[in-house]
Amino acid sequence: MPKKPAASAARHLAAELTGPGYALPGTLASRLMRCGKANCRCKAEPPALHGPYLHWTRTVAGKTVTRTLTPEQAERYQPWFENARRLREALTELEARSLRMFRDAED
Ligand SMILES: [Zn+2]
Repeated sequence: MPKKPAASAARHLAAELTGPGYALPGTLASRLMRCGKANCRCKAEPPALHGPYLHWTRTVAGKTVTRTLTPEQAERYQPWFENARRLREALTELEARSLRMFRDAED
């Protein structure tokens, strides 16, 4: 990334933080699964697994919560997941920049 003046970089980060309308926490992953049935095709050799299922996983009060989304839901909410990821990245960058500014000013 090219080096920018600090004020411009801060404005850019602020725009990233306020730009997107919605942001969903967690991650969306496509997974193949085994079920609980003993004689199912998913236990065969070679196994024919179920899915793929679209699993939305996030942490709620310290516990992992998973919800299965339909392909339509996954497509509809994909931008919200991307917004949340961009926000996390922007916050990480802003915090690192702020720590450098603090050190430059105070140490
Ligand atoms: Zn099965």
